[in-house]
Amino acid sequence: MDSDPDFSGSMLAMRLHAPREALRAERVPVPQPGSGQVLIEVAACGVCRTDLHVVDGDLREGRYPLVPGHEIVGRVARGGTRFAAGARVGVPWLGWTCGKCEYCASGRENLCARARFTGYTLDGGYAEYALADERFCFALPERYSDAEAAPLLCAGLIGYRSYAFAGDARTLGLYGFGAAAHLLAQLAKAQGKRVFAFVRPGDESGMKFAHACGADWAGGSDQAPPEPLDAAIIFAPVGALVPQALAAVKKGGRVVCGGIHMSDIPSFPYALLWGERRVQSVANLTRADGEAFMRIAGDTPIRIETKSYPLAQANEALADLREGRLEGAAVLLP
Ligand SMILES: [Zn+2]
Ligand SMILES: [Zn+2]
Repeated sequence: MDSDPDFSGSMLAMRLHAPREALRAERVPVPQPGSGQVLIEVAACGVCRTDLHVVDGDLREGRYPLVPGHEIVGRVARGGTRFAAGARVGVPWLGWTCGKCEYCASGRENLCARARFTGYTLDGGYAEYALADERFCFALPERYSDAEAAPLLCAGLIGYRSYAFAGDARTLGLYGFGAAAHLLAQLAKAQGKRVFAFVRPGDESGMKFAHACGADWAGGSDQAPPEPLDAAIIFAPVGALVPQALAAVKKGGRVVCGGIHMSDIPSFPYALLWGERRVQSVANLTRADGEAFMRIAGDTPIRIETKSYPLAQANEALADLREGRLEGAAVLLP
């Protein structure tokens, strides 16, 4: 039925055909929006550590071929009723929820048993166009360019949800200083926190980057912070950091695990948990998180470090993230 010549053609998409394979650059038909969906012309798509877990098959619900990418910034090309054509929108990891289960009914749609995820169980933004359910799209703060806004959609948003679980911590530790921590450190400083950054032991440039983002102290993850922490957030996918972070937080402190996948946590003495210390994971996001975070990001000037790659170089961007060669966030530009 579609007679619009602009959107009936083909597009470049970077697709995963099987776990642990390189993405393939392919021409595929531009998808057509169904009811309640918008077709988005992708302007930028962030590269997130979760994309590595999808590509590596650590997350097992993907179906192939799959277009990764869940930090999508683009403009509405057609479809839907919520946004005007041409409106800039962002698409996050949470792409659809059932709206009916006990979690959806209690404001915890992040835990919906039937949730669908952008760039994992739904095709994502490593492409020239992407489809999204318009109810799960966000308007984006105008102060950020397309490339800068992309990492807000996961690194920023999941970082913010993790930060919320850290409560009213005055001293905050951040383990793993990548895309999420570099945004969150600036937000925490703007809110008067003391920020302690933990990087791979010996990673001098990582420590320098953390200082440049406002951290009060930066050191190796094997070091003790100069003062005990009220809370720690772990962004690195390394389970061995859990007991290390527990040792760094004071009584009543929290250790928040911000990643979707982590290596096994080694056994540790109960004394590390004693004193009402808590370990907490963070799963996905709710739309309410997104609205709240985009408001804060609009009000707080954050310097967002990005490294841009052409869309066709998605494999290079993933490799740079895997090897720890990035400061800030990788972003693909179609
Ligand atoms: Zn649900
Ligand atoms: Zn992500």
